[in-house]
Amino acid sequence: MAIACRWCAALQGLERQSPYLFETLEQLAQHVEAEHDMPVQRERETIEEAQKRFQARNTRAGGPECRCPGCKARRYKAIAAALEEELKKTKEPT
Ligand SMILES: [Zn+2]
Ligand SMILES: [Zn+2]
Repeated sequence: MAIACRWCAALQGLERQSPYLFETLEQLAQHVEAEHDMPVQRERETIEEAQKRFQARNTRAGGPECRCPGCKARRYKAIAAALEEELKKTKEPT
């Protein structure tokens, strides 16, 4: 049975990409860490160990290019606000 990435599914409306499907939870975990910049705690791993392992491999997380849902949402808000400002300008009589 295929497992869908819920982050890809949630972002579908914003990014026009179909939800990613995986065969195993490990594949999904690797995808979430690589594509969504979020550490996934594995079996026999503490949260601290997961954070350490993730931070050693992923240097983008937490930075300006971070692709985690929180940072993405903030960037989309900033883009939406900028667009709104531009629209307001064009509507104002000159
Ligand atoms: Zn995904
Ligand atoms: Zn982030």
